[in-house]
Amino acid sequence: MKKYQVFIGNAWKDSASGESFQSYNPFTGDPWAEIPKCDARDVDEAVEAAHDALYHGAWGKLSATERGALLRKLGDLVARDADSLTAVEVRDNGKLRAEIEGQVRGISQWLYFYGGLADKINGSVIPINKPNTFTYTLREPVGVVAAIVPWNSPLMLMVWKLAPALAAGCTMVIKPSEHTSASALEFAALVREAGFPEGVVNVVTGFGQDVGDRLTTHPKVAKVAFTGGETAGQKIMENAAATFKRLTLELGGKSAQIVFPDADLDAAVSGGIAGIFAATGQTCIAGSRLLVHESIYEAYLDKFVASAKTARMGDPMEMATQVGPVTTQPQLDRIVSYIEIAKSEGARCVLGGAPAQRPECGNGWFVEPTVFADVRNDMRIAQEEVFGPVVSLISFRDDEEAYEIANDTDYGLAAGVWTSSIKRATVAPKRLRAGTVWVNTYRAASFLMPFGGVKASGFGRENGIEAIDQYLETKSVWLSY
Ligand code: NAD
Repeated sequence: MKKYQVFIGNAWKDSASGESFQSYNPFTGDPWAEIPKCDARDVDEAVEAAHDALYHGAWGKLSATERGALLRKLGDLVARDADSLTAVEVRDNGKLRAEIEGQVRGISQWLYFYGGLADKINGSVIPINKPNTFTYTLREPVGVVAAIVPWNSPLMLMVWKLAPALAAGCTMVIKPSEHTSASALEFAALVREAGFPEGVVNVVTGFGQDVGDRLTTHPKVAKVAFTGGETAGQKIMENAAATFKRLTLELGGKSAQIVFPDADLDAAVSGGIAGIFAATGQTCIAGSRLLVHESIYEAYLDKFVASAKTARMGDPMEMATQVGPVTTQPQLDRIVSYIEIAKSEGARCVLGGAPAQRPECGNGWFVEPTVFADVRNDMRIAQEEVFGPVVSLISFRDDEEAYEIANDTDYGLAAGVWTSSIKRATVAPKRLRAGTVWVNTYRAASFLMPFGGVKASGFGRENGIEAIDQYLETKSVWLSY
């Protein structure tokens, strides 16, 4: 069993309590790594290290150009170690190697992009109408950032926070999910190798109720960048209120893909399949509601089921595998319970509907790709985030009804539209209340494009130039002469 230590002040340490917990391989169901079980003492040490690095240590004295060079060096090291980082994350998370490889390659791009931006953060000179006065603004790091990360894309979602935060000059304490801590610790070794001064990046491992709670109440943490579920998001907002921390919350979704009658049906089927079954449905942007025009509903359903039926399940390290295990046993139980709820609500299960019993799935935590037809949007299966390979098909009569159903959700993370009409392709993004709208594509992401939610999907944006703003404060300077 691999035994990990946490990373505080560029040093490797056991947890203060000396306790640890196990991380499991979802494909075998077996534990494979020992992870330190940190508590408030470890968090306090890490936050002090980050605070010192920023306000007293070497990091606060580096030029922005030097910060950028370190980020780009880190990008090189991630590219060099992409295979081993991928293997760790596949083992810990169960996601397909093909998917993780793409994400790890992306991480280098993110680090290069934000490394390049580091010395292009400018304040401005503001010519106010007052004699003998020079007025300007400085853009300064917000302070120590706590990055709290979920298990579904551990490294990628961590770097979406780390790259702009470090480019802005912040220091960080990172808490990966208790289910997938290993890749963040492997990444920390590269941070040290790249030459970042001590205390700039710290990684503490453990559970939300102690490590997460202390991080989000610690008076020296200035900002929390969180990706995860609404329950934790609400608790973090409450905790942050006491010390007025800045917040970015990237929460869940119940995203709709609308298939209009003029859509290219084959493309809409492939987009629907990728939208829900990528990462075994465990993505915040999962297209879990497919709204299909009544005139093509049966044709779409037939093609969709025929395609989903062929999905190859099995070892996530095999490049031919198309649907891997879900990440944890509780996640498997949760998905199965939602399948039962949908059946009891009267949704028609046309494919799957149970844990997978295929020999190629071994003892892993697998759920059959599951398709529900004749779903009504007020059913729980259409309103609540399942976070698994379960899709609901809903039919609509006209465009107005499609937009109404799509927006009839607490969430607002993403939406998809399939159409050959230029009018619909233009109108739909305006009508849909979501942070991202994809037209004739789904799931595309880039370091250049802002990403985030509205409504219960959270607030703040990651990625793109504007992500830097989430880690900066503006200081106004008045100089009289
Ligand atoms: P989660 O909310 O249970 O946990 C996320 C992280 O928060 C973990 O590190 C956890 O330990 C920590 N945490 C839990 N309770 C906490 C507390 N009270 N205080 C501080 N930290 C706490 O979510 P999860 O199950 O790991 O991830 C799945 C959720 O994440 C889904 O809802 C999914 O939609 C969402 N998600 C959102 C995005 C996005 O960008 N919007 C991306 C991926 C996942």
